[in-house]
Amino acid sequence: MNRVLALCCLLLSLVAQTFAADVFPKFFENNTLRVDYFHSGTATTEIVSLDQAYQQGVWAGSRINLVDTLNLGKYLVKVIDVATNQLIFSRGFASIYGEWETTQEALDEQARTFHESVLLPFPKRPVQVVLAKRDKWMRFQDIFSTAIDPGSRFINREKRGQEFKVRTLREQGPPHKKVDFLILGDGYTKDEMGKFRKDADRWMNVILKTEPFKKNASRLNFRAIEVISEDSGIDEPRKNTWKNTALGCSYNSFDSPRYVLTFENRRMRDIAAAAPYDFIYIMTNATRYGGGGIYNLYATGMTGVENPDLDWHIPYMFTHEFGHSFAGLGDEYYSSSTSYVDFYPPGVEPTAPNVTALLDPDNLKWKSFVEEGTPLPTEWSKAHYDSLGAVRRTWDRSAPGYYEKWLGMRKQQVEQMDASPFADKVGAFEGAGYSATGLFRPAIDCRMFSLSTVPFDPICQQGIVRVIRFYSE
Ligand SMILES: [Zn+2]
Repeated sequence: MNRVLALCCLLLSLVAQTFAADVFPKFFENNTLRVDYFHSGTATTEIVSLDQAYQQGVWAGSRINLVDTLNLGKYLVKVIDVATNQLIFSRGFASIYGEWETTQEALDEQARTFHESVLLPFPKRPVQVVLAKRDKWMRFQDIFSTAIDPGSRFINREKRGQEFKVRTLREQGPPHKKVDFLILGDGYTKDEMGKFRKDADRWMNVILKTEPFKKNASRLNFRAIEVISEDSGIDEPRKNTWKNTALGCSYNSFDSPRYVLTFENRRMRDIAAAAPYDFIYIMTNATRYGGGGIYNLYATGMTGVENPDLDWHIPYMFTHEFGHSFAGLGDEYYSSSTSYVDFYPPGVEPTAPNVTALLDPDNLKWKSFVEEGTPLPTEWSKAHYDSLGAVRRTWDRSAPGYYEKWLGMRKQQVEQMDASPFADKVGAFEGAGYSATGLFRPAIDCRMFSLSTVPFDPICQQGIVRVIRFYSE
């Protein structure tokens, strides 16, 4: 870029920022409007119905970046100023409903309901809140709309989330200028708060050591809420183990043994309301491998391990699941079974920044990272990698010596990947997004590909940096 062009770009972005800085005080107060609704349906029908709107504490999001430019998530909430018909805020997100509607249960037309919330800056004037969902070509189509008058007596203004103590772990500036991480714990009893504090510190330290969070550390705030549960541990339906916990986290979500989610959204949002936040991480007081992450909702992960040799699973879980919920990263692996049917519909380019259907190699979305001479798709001796993995699937996970055998297999896979001519290159490597064929990932290995603590690949790192910048000023 020549200097004149660079200067013009800088001036333009300053003008845009100045303009954006005027928008916030004109349209919004420094509070949060939380809109709760029920999201019901099957794979073919979908109904959104309003539950309740709440006024909450300070607005934690940016006051400059109001309209979403990240283009992530299956859903989008839009706020339109009624008087001027101007779009004054939007935000992409994904939801449990959005995953559920791709399960066999939904395809079998068994209707279900999930409770969801959107957080918006509190408007000064009447607004229209609109939910849009991507159609099969990934274009947003409106599915729900409701008018909200900020002066209305129908907005609940109780002080919520007063029952648990908020602890600030690290503060780099005011919430609207920084990315605000909120750590919650589930399945920690009153006597286990010391453990919760240690686990929360560990989560923060893992994030701060992981790139690209590390080099953006000055943009990150961390807070934790000392959520107390009645019982220790979380639900394990497959073992008939049931725990009364504050947030209702459970293994076996969508009948997937290691998938940990909570469906108790209202409870979670009420508790989280005690602190300003952009992103939530829920630590489960559990030792069996399990977690989950949904874009712009929350991520979960266990904080212990059954075998001390597997302690590295914890930092893996902390960061991998957070990659989903923070930056909308897709899974790059394809070897594990999941409950989804066509999670990424064939013939359509996924919105995940790190998964491509490679429908148009000349316009690959991460093309600027691909060096000349790297073929697309990019050869990576997939057959050999797969044959090693196929042997593993015949092993009994619970048998003694499983982990040693797994380590041996992983070592062979890593050696084979390292020997690839494109080992350190960005390309389009076939096998990603739960599909062995037809979907491609940017690098041979990544925190979103293998169960390992290898770094996020350059495309995932770029995706994370974009979100950090969007939420901080
Ligand atoms: Zn994942």
